[in-house]
Amino acid sequence: METIIQASYFIVAAIFIIGLKQMSSPVTARRGILWAGAAMVIATLVTFMAPEIIDSDQAATNVGLIILAIGIGGGYAWWSGKRVAMTDMPQMIAMYNGMGGGAAATIAAVELLKASTETSHDPSGTMTIADALGPDVAILGILGAIIGTISFSGSIIAWAKLDGRLHRSKLLPGQHFINAILAIVTVGFAVSIYFSGSDLTPIIIFFGLALVLGIFITVPVGGADMPVIISLFNALTGLAVGFEGYVLGNAAMIIAGIVVGSAGSLLTHLMAVAMNRSVANVFFAGVGTDSGVTSEGIQGEMKEIQAQDAGILMAFASQVVIIPGYGMAVAQAQHKIWELTQLLNDKGVAVKFAIHSVAGRMPGHMNVLLAEAGVPYDMIYDMEDINADFKNTTVALVIGANDVVNPSAKTDTSSPLYGMPILDAIDSDNVIVIKRGRGAGFSGVENPLFFADNTKMLFGDGQKAASELIQAVKEL
Ligand code: NDP
Repeated sequence: METIIQASYFIVAAIFIIGLKQMSSPVTARRGILWAGAAMVIATLVTFMAPEIIDSDQAATNVGLIILAIGIGGGYAWWSGKRVAMTDMPQMIAMYNGMGGGAAATIAAVELLKASTETSHDPSGTMTIADALGPDVAILGILGAIIGTISFSGSIIAWAKLDGRLHRSKLLPGQHFINAILAIVTVGFAVSIYFSGSDLTPIIIFFGLALVLGIFITVPVGGADMPVIISLFNALTGLAVGFEGYVLGNAAMIIAGIVVGSAGSLLTHLMAVAMNRSVANVFFAGVGTDSGVTSEGIQGEMKEIQAQDAGILMAFASQVVIIPGYGMAVAQAQHKIWELTQLLNDKGVAVKFAIHSVAGRMPGHMNVLLAEAGVPYDMIYDMEDINADFKNTTVALVIGANDVVNPSAKTDTSSPLYGMPILDAIDSDNVIVIKRGRGAGFSGVENPLFFADNTKMLFGDGQKAASELIQAVKEL
């Protein structure tokens, strides 16, 4: 039985890695998700065969509890996954990630409690948790506990912020100092658990402090930096699961945890690079806090254009580059935009899509929406591949994007966005911006592109504006 279990875990781990590889391309991503899901089903079924489950006196209770947990967790995930709006996906990811961290921390808590009970039966009274678990298991278990707990409470805060339930992002006076002290005290209690025995006090205080630490380090992080934080917590959850897999001697957990940890770390790094920030800067700078940046100092004024004139401009263009952003997701305008693209193609206009890696509210957000609408992958360009091409572009059509085309990120050293690479829409002959009003983007920073000489604003909901453009092009 043990051989079958270990062999199954090995197969599961291999399928996880294959699935993850497939997720790296939009063409194979859907298949990758299915592979990873199948691996998870196998890993779950194998659990029923584990000797500590079925050979125990409480086999029926164990199996009953696992089935109940699968029923509640799987049922809720199915229900929430079906009804979640695309725009709410980041919150959902933050929440599920938090659950992963919480699960890893719970495993650690149970193992520490078991070890603590074991020490209480030691007649000499000198046995420590490290003796009961073994030094390597104790160290990794405690490390997993601290990381998992921080990831749990931090992810809940990230969820609350992205869901608009928590708004205050301002840094408190001395916030970083308080966080540093809290981190040192938490690590101190972690060390004390290693040497402690049957006294549960250090364990309880340790988990309490780690929970508060997760909250304290996430609360000041600015809204615009939430994706990086979620990705980082995802990496930490993977690491915590890997550590707890070592504690339980579960190879599938170790490999899956390490794979998630490394993929999450890489994604965190790539996202930080896309914003031209270090991860430390993301934690400590507070970009996207309610800084109240205004349009003061921006030259020019916003000039409006009607859909009919915008349609003419695009229909007689040699090249149109469409830049989607969060507003396109809100308006669900991707199908109309694809219809417009086909009409322009029929008129001999070359159309390309330019995607910034943090456009929208999660990595790959725009790619998913465009794929859903049927836009072929070879029309979609990453920032590095399209930026030089804006100089040869007659019209850049910005639909619901703001921060990712904000030129102040290049020119204004005082801007919180300064240093973030952006799509150079401003280099096009003409820029048409579809948005509902004059409001700023996610970071709260005003956008000088909207005031530029070559920019015209097509005010309105994204889907409605795209429909009007379709009508205008059709009438030509
Ligand atoms: P922004 O959030 O900067 O701007 C979106 C724009 O869309 C707004 O200016 C808004 O203007 C407009 N808009 C909203 N609803 C509609 C609608 N129905 N129709 C038309 N326009 C609409 O989006 P970007 O994609 O440019 O930038 C993403 C930002 O989000 C970055 O700051 C990034 O760091 C951050 N972020 C990214 C994540 C990721 O992983 N991709 C995750 C979380 C945050 P108006 O209200 O006037 O209509």
